[in-house]
Amino acid sequence: MKVIVSHDVDHLTFWEHSKDLIIPKFFIRNAIECLHRHIQFSETLKRSGVIFSNRWHRLPELMGFDIEKKIPSTFFFGVNNGCNLAYSLRNAETWIRYAIEKGFDVGVHGIGYQNFEEIQKEFTTFKSISGKSQFGIRMHYLRQNDETINHLSSTGYLFDSTVRSTSNTILPYKAGEMWEFPLHIMDGDIIEFGKRYGNKSLKEAQALTTALIDKIFEKQTEYLTILFHDRYFDDSFSIWRDWYIWVVEYLKSSEFEFIGYPQAVKELNNRNSTLSR
Ligand SMILES: [Zn+2]
Repeated sequence: MKVIVSHDVDHLTFWEHSKDLIIPKFFIRNAIECLHRHIQFSETLKRSGVIFSNRWHRLPELMGFDIEKKIPSTFFFGVNNGCNLAYSLRNAETWIRYAIEKGFDVGVHGIGYQNFEEIQKEFTTFKSISGKSQFGIRMHYLRQNDETINHLSSTGYLFDSTVRSTSNTILPYKAGEMWEFPLHIMDGDIIEFGKRYGNKSLKEAQALTTALIDKIFEKQTEYLTILFHDRYFDDSFSIWRDWYIWVVEYLKSSEFEFIGYPQAVKELNNRNSTLSR
C-alpha cells in the first residue's frame, strides 16, 4: 500500500470572510472547545490572533514540513467562490504559483458541482493560471450529485478525490478517462468525530486512525488517501497539527511509500495498458 497526501486550501485571509458566517462560527466553535476543556484558554487566545494577522493559511509551514519529510502532496486551490470559500482569484494565483515553485502538485478545489458550464469554467481558469495541462480536483466540502463525477471526467480532469470512502468504495476506479480515488482519511472526520467542533484528544485520534488504516489495509487497496487542511498546521490547532505529524511518522515507520496522485494515475494507467495487451 502506498500513501497519497493532499491538502485543501479553504482560506487565505481571515477578513475575506467579512460577508459570510465563518467568523462568528469560528468563535463559537473555539468557545465550545475551550468550555469542554478540549483546548486550553491560551490556545483559544492564539486562534484569535488571526483577527490581527489576517493570515488564515499555513502554506509555507506545511510545505516546509512536507518537503522535509519528502511527501509529494497535492494542494487543491479554489478558483471560484461559494460555500464559504471566499478568497480572490488574484490571491489564489499567488499561492498556486508559490506551490508550483516549491515543487508541489496543484489541483482545483471545486465549487461548481451541479453545473457543467461552471465545472468547465473552473477547469479553464485553473489551467491558464497554473500553466498546467493535466491536473486533478477535489470538491469543496466533498459536494457532489449524481452527475458531478461524469462532468469532471468529460471536462478533462486527470483524477478526482471527492468520493468519500465507504466499505464498498475503497479502491480507485475509472470514471470515463478519469481516475477516482476515494477519500479514506480526513482530519476533521477524526478530530471532530461526528460533531462540528474538536472533541477527540490526540491519543483518541491516533487510535481511531490506526483502526481505520488497518481496515483499509485489509481491503488490499494499493493507495491510501489522506486529507489534511493546511490552516491547522499551527500552534493554535495543536491536536490537528500533532495528529498530522504523527500520521506521517506512523506511516513512514510502517514503511509505506508516499506517492503523489499524478504518479499513482501513471501507475494505474500503465497497469491497465499492460492488462489490455
Ligand atoms: Zn474545502
